[in-house]
Amino acid sequence: MKTTPFWWEEAEPTHGERSFDKDSCSVLIVGAGYTGLSAAITLAEAGVSDVFVVDAMRIGEGASSRNGGQIGNAPKFDLAYATARFGARRAGEIMDDYQQSMPFLLKRASTLSDSFDLSLSGSVTGIHSNRDMRKLTAIRDSLPADEREGFEILDKTEMRRILNSDIYVGALLKHGQGGLHPAKYVRALANRAQALGVRIFTGWRYQGATRQGAGHLVRLANLQGRQTAIRTDKVLLSVNGYAGPEQTWLRKRVIPVQSYMIATEPLPYDQMEALIPHNRVAGDTKHILYYYRRSPDGTRMLFGGRARFSTSTEAESAVGLRQFMAHTFPSLKDARITHSWLGNVCFAYDFVTHVGRMEDGVHYSSCYNGNGVSMATYMGHRAAEMLLGVPGHDRGVVNTHFPRLWFYNGNPWFLPLVGNWYRLLDRSARWFG
Ligand SMILES: Cc1cc2nc3c(=O)[nH]c(=O)nc-3n(C[C@H](O)[C@H](O)[C@H](O)COP(=O)(O)OP(=O)(O)OC[C@H]3O[C@@H](n4cnc5c(N)ncnc54)[C@H](O)[C@@H]3O)c2cc1C
Repeated sequence: MKTTPFWWEEAEPTHGERSFDKDSCSVLIVGAGYTGLSAAITLAEAGVSDVFVVDAMRIGEGASSRNGGQIGNAPKFDLAYATARFGARRAGEIMDDYQQSMPFLLKRASTLSDSFDLSLSGSVTGIHSNRDMRKLTAIRDSLPADEREGFEILDKTEMRRILNSDIYVGALLKHGQGGLHPAKYVRALANRAQALGVRIFTGWRYQGATRQGAGHLVRLANLQGRQTAIRTDKVLLSVNGYAGPEQTWLRKRVIPVQSYMIATEPLPYDQMEALIPHNRVAGDTKHILYYYRRSPDGTRMLFGGRARFSTSTEAESAVGLRQFMAHTFPSLKDARITHSWLGNVCFAYDFVTHVGRMEDGVHYSSCYNGNGVSMATYMGHRAAEMLLGVPGHDRGVVNTHFPRLWFYNGNPWFLPLVGNWYRLLDRSARWFG
């Protein structure tokens, strides 16, 4: 079993430039994932020259080449929650940011020359409890008539035609959503950025920035311990769940959570078609959710979730995920696991995405709460609008209060406790829902 992502079989991350031939640029972006590359594309398309993207690893080697490739735009909260937190106007704009993320991804996709297995055959959500069923039905019923058509709720019997599992009380089918090959997608973004003149440097770790005149002096170090400094007008941190100790301000606000995935060996196409027809992407409504889909060629099952809430290795997590997969689809109980991998998802305490500027003038875009394929693409663009000072950029998630907990300094020691609490909520939803 390999401990690298299945996606890397066809699109393993590659290095960018390894050394700097200039000591200044106009914008320096830290993080070469969807956020950083999307921001770079918007800046370059707006005519900004000398945009540098710097990453400690290879291009897209963080979550952007490791995720499930499911694209959707549902926030982890509703309008009432956002209104209570941010007021009615901001709340409406925040919901709009989430709504806009998917159309924006499709628009950006149309400008990319490389293919990345984009498919909009729909997404399926297995409904865990009767309570979830009532909640989703109420949400569906509150939608305008034209949107309601894209949102089908099926009971346990009808559900078989979209998801062949016994563990749910029903399922939601959302038309117009779907999936892509995450590692090919991040590569396509990088190629587009480079074609527009953006320079991508890898193997260099951001160490911090100090103000210098109207701009910043950014300190970088490579793995061999070589140090350099780049002068730049603006800095954007797009490091998401990989924020290190040098990013103290962000580390106090973001909760990196490891998420795990496995891939099975190729299986007969018809067997897989019988489990999730039309190669739709799937997940469920639990607090500790599973997300799964078939490989783009339809022959493998890619199954993900939080196998454990304490840190585990790829070998340990494969055991738990395999059990969950067999529980969901008993016919896969003997399937061989060929890949098991992990990556960091990034959460905020309030479950909202945050884009803004710190006191030292450095900008950030962070916390997609597990929904980053479309949100990171869109927020990279929104962050670039903020850097460009585009009129109207200060709306929605941009510049909202980014909360921190006074006792938290970047080490999420409380996750196993949260895991136990979520497990209890999931069990009680089934018993009492
Ligand atoms: C297993 C898994 C499954 C997921 N499934 C889905 C899914 O199906 N659908 C969905 O919408 N989302 C999913 N996500 C979330 C999604 O992948 C992320 O939200 C998204 O990729 C974030 O992109 P990003 O560019 O902000 O961050 P990343 O792609 O994580 O990039 C951050 C980069 O910052 C770099 N970096 C950090 N610190 C420094 C430093 N000091 N100096 C230089 N570089 C630095 C890192 O090396 C990294 O490359 C999943 C995530 C994981 C891990």
